[in-house]
Amino acid sequence: MEVKKLDYKKTEKVFNANNKNTLAPIMHRLGGETAFEVSREVEKLKLQGKDIIEMHIGQPDFNTPEHIIDAAIESLYNGDTGYTPSHGIMECREAVAEFIPKYRKVDGDIGPENVVITPGGKPVIFFGIFSTIGKGEEVLYPNPGYPIYISAINAAEGRGIPYNSVEELKKRINNKTRMIILNSPHNPTGEIIEKDDLEEIAGLSQKHNSLVMSDEVYSRIIYRDGFESVLQFSGMLERTILVDCHSKAYAMTGWRFGFGVASPKYTDAISEWMVNTSACVPGFIQKAGIAAMKGDQSCVYSMVDKFRKRRDLIVSELNKIDGIFCPEPDGAFYVFPDVTELCGEGNPFEDASDLRKKLLYEAGVSVLAREHFGSKGPNEENEFIRFSYATSEENILEGVGRIRNYLNRQ
Ligand code: PLP
Repeated sequence: MEVKKLDYKKTEKVFNANNKNTLAPIMHRLGGETAFEVSREVEKLKLQGKDIIEMHIGQPDFNTPEHIIDAAIESLYNGDTGYTPSHGIMECREAVAEFIPKYRKVDGDIGPENVVITPGGKPVIFFGIFSTIGKGEEVLYPNPGYPIYISAINAAEGRGIPYNSVEELKKRINNKTRMIILNSPHNPTGEIIEKDDLEEIAGLSQKHNSLVMSDEVYSRIIYRDGFESVLQFSGMLERTILVDCHSKAYAMTGWRFGFGVASPKYTDAISEWMVNTSACVPGFIQKAGIAAMKGDQSCVYSMVDKFRKRRDLIVSELNKIDGIFCPEPDGAFYVFPDVTELCGEGNPFEDASDLRKKLLYEAGVSVLAREHFGSKGPNEENEFIRFSYATSEENILEGVGRIRNYLNRQ
C-alpha cells in the first residue's frame, strides 16, 4: 500500500481556490486498505466468468455460530432497534470487562468505564490515534503491517516511524515516541511477540512516557498455549489502548462488533468520535456480541483447530515449491512466505507485486503482496506475498497446486 504523501502546494491551492468541488487536504493523507482493491479486481474477473481461488482476504469462511445469530434475532424481536449509548450499552461494556481478563493476564481491574463498543476493531485504531496523536508526534508502527495504522497516523498529521522487527522497535523507542503500535498475532506474518519482548517494550514505554496501542484482534487464533498481552505488566492498563473485536474469533467480520479497552479518558474520547460519526453500535449487534462472550466457547476452539490444520497444510504445500520459503506462524490465519528467489534479474517476476498480479490473472489465485502492508524500507531486499488460509483445505490444495503448475511453466 502506497500512502499518498501530502502535497503542500496542492493543499494551499485547494484552500486558495475555495473550490467546493475539490477534496479537503486530509484526503491527500488518508490511505486505505488495498486488500479491498484486490477484492474489486477479483470481483471483476469473476463477473467475466473466471474461476479464482481467493486467498487474499482475512475473513473466516465459517458461518457465525448459531447461538450468536439467535441472540441477534431475539433482540430484534424484543425491539432493540433504536439508538444506544455511544459508549455501548452497559450490559455489553460489563461483558467486555469480564471477558478481556479471561483470555489474557491483566495487571489491574477493568470496569465498564474502561470499555467502549465500536463497529469493528478498526474504529478503535482510527479514533484512538485521532484522540491522542497531534501534529508531528511520533508513532512507531509495524511495517509490514495492517495498513490502517499509517493511514490514521498520516490523517492525524502524526509522524509514522516504521519498524520491521521487535528488535528494531526496541531500538527506535525514545523520548519523542508518543505511541507504540503493537500487533500480536501479527497481520501479515502471523508472528507472536514473546513475553520477554513485551515486558521490555512495556518498560521502554514507561521510561519514555509513550502510549501503547495493542491490536489483539487475532489473540484467540493462536496455535500454542496462552496469549500474552502487554496489559499483564504493571502500569500498562493506564497507558494502553487495547484493540479487539469479534470479527475473526467468532467469524463476525460483517457484523461490525469491536471494542476498545483503555483509561476512561481514552474510552470517553473514542466515544466522542462515535457520537460524531456513527452514533452507536446497534443494540441487537451488541446483544449478539454478549452472546458470543458469555456463550459456549467450543465454536472458537473448533474453528482454531481447523485453522491449525489449514496452516500445517499450506506451509507444507508451499515449501514443496522451489523458490518459496514459508515459515510456520504461531497465530492468525496468514502466511507470509519469502519469494525473493522468484523475483528480480534472471527470474520470471520483477518483484512480489508483479508475481501477485500474474498469480491472479494467469494462475487464477488471489493473494496480496508486500506492498499491501506498507512501503518497503531502504535496506529491505526480500520479496514476500501473503496468503490467507481462512479458506477450505480443498481450496488451499487447489490454489497452491495452480501456483505450482504455473511456476513450472515459467
Ligand atoms: N487489526 C488487524 C491487524 C486486522 O487485520 C484487522 C482486520 O483485518 C483489524 C484490526 C480490523 O478488524 P475489524 O474488521 O473488526 O474492523
